[in-house]
Amino acid sequence: MSHPRRIIEHMFATVGELLERSKAFVAEFDFGALERDGSRELYEQLVELERLAAAAKGLAADRMADSGAWWRTPYRSPAHYMAACEAKPVNRSAEMLHTVDKMHELPEIESAYRQGALNDEQAMEVVSAAEAAPGIQEYLLSVAEGEALIELRRECARVRAAALSEKERQSRAHNSRRLRHWVDPDGAFRLSGRFTVAAGAEIMAALEPYRQRVADRASRRGRRGRISPGAALADALVELSHRSSFGSQDPMRPPPRASIHVRLDHSALVRGHTVSGEICEVPGVGPVPVETVRGWMKQKDAYVAAILTDGDDIRKVVRVGRDIPAKLEMALRERDQCCVVPGCGEVYDLQVDHVVEMERGGPTTLYNLCRLCSWHHYLKTHHRYILRRRLGHWLWEDPGGIPPDLDDLQQELSAAGYTGSLPRAG
Ligand SMILES: [Zn+2]
Repeated sequence: MSHPRRIIEHMFATVGELLERSKAFVAEFDFGALERDGSRELYEQLVELERLAAAAKGLAADRMADSGAWWRTPYRSPAHYMAACEAKPVNRSAEMLHTVDKMHELPEIESAYRQGALNDEQAMEVVSAAEAAPGIQEYLLSVAEGEALIELRRECARVRAAALSEKERQSRAHNSRRLRHWVDPDGAFRLSGRFTVAAGAEIMAALEPYRQRVADRASRRGRRGRISPGAALADALVELSHRSSFGSQDPMRPPPRASIHVRLDHSALVRGHTVSGEICEVPGVGPVPVETVRGWMKQKDAYVAAILTDGDDIRKVVRVGRDIPAKLEMALRERDQCCVVPGCGEVYDLQVDHVVEMERGGPTTLYNLCRLCSWHHYLKTHHRYILRRRLGHWLWEDPGGIPPDLDDLQQELSAAGYTGSLPRAG
């Protein structure tokens, strides 16, 4: 594609003007003068602008790399030059260049990227999955649009996993395994590793009871004691290591028992490997070979909790080993792998909630239970936010401006053409 000179000049004039105006606006605008809604509107517009700018930047960088324009810089590759300009890690710049380069062969994704529908993180995920399965670009874009980033990552990992044979995937991961550690300029000890998903699942399962203990301790201290999920995991690793080096301070207390939750199709378990459309994965960690799960199940002191699914239905819950949570909780964990509020995606410290409260006759059944993050649980319990399930999808309704009386709300909704009855969930 080539443009006449005047189009190129027009583009530079437009970007130059945008830059000048933005500089003046950001430096001088009094953000405190915005109304509440205005601040949100501005924020949303700037998010869109940021995505568009990132897309244009990615496409320009791709051209810069192809045309050799970076040769005139003192850097040894386009990625090194970009990393220096943007003050970002080199591997990220390299990944972004690869993403934009591959995008030229994925027209639907490129078009969405150019329309500002994908940020860099989403683009990297979607492209890496579409490289393995170019026929499902539209599907991947719909996941990017409708799901939180964490769910998009999970789905893209599944797509990549299904495209490679289990053996190839595992041997690639195994061959590149490593654990590195160093002390960074701030004096902090840093760890970075690469493992097979199966090894990762065992590590995370071993950490989980310690993480749970750390999180419980923190929550007993109330708001002051609150720590981030990442900090809780870090503390859990230190506790696990301490225990392994020095034993327990309390010899009466047995080490906490680990359990690995697996989600896999019954047919795959019987066959010994997955075929397209089947799942065998450790929720929150990633896909694992069926063979590995069989190995876990055979271990004498097995601590696998396998959940067999048939499509989306929970067919049967198989429990192996001791100390397993109740069947229902297992089924719930399987169904709600993250907070069910659309777009939330939180996976840690989820709380079980009765959609229709027990006081209002809501039963303790899978259908009436869901897992919520602490923030959404708080909103639902104390701020009249409403959660409903319709055709297998969760709807989350903001009560903003809603009259406190639910009967009034029902009337208002009927007047607006809403025919359903309002769940009395608090
Ligand atoms: Zn949430």
